[in-house]
Amino acid sequence: MGRVFVAGSINMDVVATADRHPRVGETVAGRQVLYFPGGKGANQAVAASRLGARTTLIGRLGKDSFGGELKAFLGGQGIDLGYVKDTAEAHTGTAIITVAEADNTIVVIPGANGLVGADDVEVVPLLAGDVAVSQFEIPLLTIAAFFRRARAAGATTVLNPAPAQAMSRELLALVDILVLNETELGFLAGSGLSENDEATRIIAVARQLQAREDQTICVTLGKRGVLALAGREDIAVPGRVVRALDTTGAGDCFVGALAAQLADDVPLRTALAFANAAASISVQRMGAGPSMPTAAEVAAVLP
Ligand code: ATP
Repeated sequence: MGRVFVAGSINMDVVATADRHPRVGETVAGRQVLYFPGGKGANQAVAASRLGARTTLIGRLGKDSFGGELKAFLGGQGIDLGYVKDTAEAHTGTAIITVAEADNTIVVIPGANGLVGADDVEVVPLLAGDVAVSQFEIPLLTIAAFFRRARAAGATTVLNPAPAQAMSRELLALVDILVLNETELGFLAGSGLSENDEATRIIAVARQLQAREDQTICVTLGKRGVLALAGREDIAVPGRVVRALDTTGAGDCFVGALAAQLADDVPLRTALAFANAAASISVQRMGAGPSMPTAAEVAAVLP
């Protein structure tokens, strides 16, 4: 069984709830403050580890109290933190979220995540059969260095290009499996896609983006499930009908679960069905990290 290596962001999400949002220059009394471990890299590593994969996270934290708390949480999830560095040059990545009137505002300060560099990823002991995962919350040049290293070792590279930003063809060509939602696909392919586009149109746009003939593009479609273009073949996995409570982190759960399955050498079609089931469980629970299911929970809902 291979290992999962996730190079990515680690954040503390600080959530303030209030009856209404303050106007510019105004102060309002809030109701509650909540602290949630977050960041796409950390969330995806938690999902992979809970599902039984041997998981290593590569990233940076500040030398501050959030850094210490995040390490304790992630270590408690069984994740190897040997490649998470403390840095004195920046604070731990932080998201300041206000929730009021059923709406939210978010300010993200990348902090130490912005300092994850090629030197952090080039020392990672990747081997053939391992899976290297990244997202767009660390510098893109670092992701390219990580994937070059992974491919040279015979590992599989998985990119979740979120939050969407322009990427070079060179980086795209280093990706074996691209996992993204419809909006991100539309943005990267330069063709507008809306939430209810038909499968044939989504696959056609994915085909335009495909950088190599053997590249797989998985498009997550929320409650509609997932569509994948694997080389020349299409795979459709319908969404599971569940009562969604909080979809935060559904995409991260999907990516972590898919990586865990690929490290276990599971064929793509089966791995996609498993990741779809895992993500459908996560949407029935609150939060991102804490909503990630275990392998036994996923097995219980699969036929
Ligand atoms: P987020 O940014 O909220 O993490 P995303 O836009 O990256 O999400 P989605 O496509 O919304 O990703 O969801 C990822 C996967 O989660 C879907 O492919 C599906 O497997 C599962 N999922 C999401 N929403 C639902 C839902 N309402 N019912 C069942 N499964 C869902």
